[in-house]
Formats: sequence, C-alpha cells, structure tokens
Amino acid sequence: MPILRQIDIGSQYYAVEEDEILARIARRKRQLADRLLILGHHYQQDNVYRFADLSGDSLKLSREAAAIQDREFLVFCGVHFMAEAADILAADNQKVLLPHLDAGCPMADMSTRSAIAAAWEELRRATGLADADITPVTYVNSSAEVKAFVGEHGGSVCTSSNANKVLKWALDQGRLVFFFPDQHLGRNASWMLEVPDKRVILWRRGEPFGGNDAVRLKQARVVLWDGYCEVHMRIFPEHVSYWRATAPEAKIIVHPECRNEIVRAADLSGSTEGIIKAVSGAEKGSQWVIGTEINLVRRLASEHPDKSIRSLTPGCLCPTMDVITPVNLLWILDNLAEGRVVNQIRVDAGTAFQAKKSLNRMLSI
Ligand code: SF4
Repeated sequence: MPILRQIDIGSQYYAVEEDEILARIARRKRQLADRLLILGHHYQQDNVYRFADLSGDSLKLSREAAAIQDREFLVFCGVHFMAEAADILAADNQKVLLPHLDAGCPMADMSTRSAIAAAWEELRRATGLADADITPVTYVNSSAEVKAFVGEHGGSVCTSSNANKVLKWALDQGRLVFFFPDQHLGRNASWMLEVPDKRVILWRRGEPFGGNDAVRLKQARVVLWDGYCEVHMRIFPEHVSYWRATAPEAKIIVHPECRNEIVRAADLSGSTEGIIKAVSGAEKGSQWVIGTEINLVRRLASEHPDKSIRSLTPGCLCPTMDVITPVNLLWILDNLAEGRVVNQIRVDAGTAFQAKKSLNRMLSI
C-alpha cells in the first residue's frame, strides 16, 4: 500500500471556535442524512465520538457497517487498518473515508507483508517444516496485505476478544503457530491456554532466525512476532502495586495488549468490549481500576457515576487515534456535501479477496 500523508485541510477552519465546529458537523450530518454512516472507535476523543452512529471495537464496527449497505459513505473515526477492514467488508457501492491520514497504528506498522514473508521462509528453513505445517494468525491490528498473507496460508485473523479461541483452533491442528504482530496478545492467549512458557518463542525482527537457535524453534508451539502497542506498554507492575495499596477493594481489569506480568497481576483481562461489559454489568458502588486507553476509561467513568472508575495509568493516550479532531471530521463532511470524496481508503481487489478469507476463517471458528 502507498504511504499516505494528510494534506493541509485549509486555513478556513483555523480560527473557528470548537462549539461552532461541532454545530457545523451536526448540520452536515443532517444534510448528508441517509447517505452517511459515522463509525467511532472507543479510543476516539469525546467530541468526535459523540457524532458516531455506530461505536465499538474495530471489527464490530466494520461488520455492522457492512450490514448497512444503503449508506454510501462510511466515515471511520479510528485508525488506518480499521478503515481497510471496513473497505474489505463493505459493499461495492460503499466508500470508506478516514478523517486524518496520519491516523495509523504503530503496532500494525511493525509487521509488513514482506517482513512476515521473509521471516516465514527463515522459520521454515530453521525447522524443516513445510508451508502446510505452520498456521499464521494475525491480530486484526495489521494491514490488509498482512491479512492477505494469512488468508493465502490457511490462517486466521483474531481480535482481542477471540484471541484465545482462535489460538486454540490453530493449536488444535497440531501445527506450529506463527502469531503477529502483537507479542503480548499472543503470549497472554498462550498463557491462558496453558502452553508451556518455553514453547512460546519470541521472533526478534532483524536478527537471524529471529534471535533463536534451530533447536528451540523446532520445540516451539507458538512463535510470536515482537510487535507491541506502545500505549499499553506504559502500564507497569508498579501501577498495579500502587492501586492494590491505594484501593484494595477495587477490581483491576486490563487489556490483553499489556505485558503478561500485568495480566497475571490484575483481577481480570478483557478486550475493549469485554472491559465495557464487565464494568457496565457491575453492581452500584463497585470500584474499578482500568488498564487501557484513557479516552475509554474517562468515558466509562462519566457514563457510570454510580461506580468508582479510575485509570491504572493516566498517560495511556493513543496519539494516532487522537490526531482525529472535530475539525478533521467537519472537513471530510464539508467535502462530501460539496461532492468531493477525500481520504478514501481502498484495498485492491486481489488483496481484499485473500484478506477476506482470513477474516471469514475467524468468523467460522
Ligand atoms: S492503542 Fe495501541 S494498538 Fe490501538 S491503535 Fe493505538 S497504538 Fe495501535
């Protein structure tokens, strides 16, 4: 895929007060009415998220949007791989737009198709395994090209909600599993499934055989790419210890993109949807300390004033999610209203076909 950069949206927005920007977005939404669907990921800032017709995690949004086929424009307030997934699942008449082209996911960018393909060949050489002896699993936080590689090699996508289930499916085939790009999600799922630690091996990019010897690789059940989410890496065991001492009654729940030692130390772990469900369903007066992106934690706190909800590590802001501001959303809608489609995210037909195989395989598991 070409590297996309956001163009200047124009100086006409610079001096406009935020209240006026929000009022203009609301007017444009009314004007575009049934032609438009705005999708908002949980990590979006409030003044963008409030305009979402659908909200959720990346895959839920793409699937629900694809089911509403009469909307011509899907404006995805999230990051690039999410807009790609929406385009893969969308009908031919639907166009997916990303309000800011710099909204990428650093973790997804840690695994390119060419790097994965080169590692795959090295892994085969080191282990003596054939293509059919290795099952690739990619986290949904990956490019369409990486998903296509997985589709071509009989593997599956997974999300943070179903990583355990998908990894179990892959392990049950008795093959070696190559999991990318998030080492922590892969390690946490392996730990939950009780795969022995010594048979879960980290593949370090840039090192021959991923920094491993052939003997270890031959004994591996799961090989993990060394990607990570820099936002969830800001959560340390000291934060868990602090809250255990400060609020001993509180339940600590963390996202599985956190390091395994954090997941082990917490009371619970769950995807964004899992965290929302756990907190929403908890009794009044319950106390929660949440280890994930701060916009989601703040929103949960304001939606549940009857519960005590605090952030495990307040600095967990996703900077690339946060580049989408109300101004970017208005700019997209102004252009649509004036007949111009800007920032459209398109996946070519061949890549989309293979990537869809890996998405459909996940849905069948
Ligand atoms: S929170 Fe982490 S995984 Fe999610 S988009 Fe931001 S960098 Fe990527």
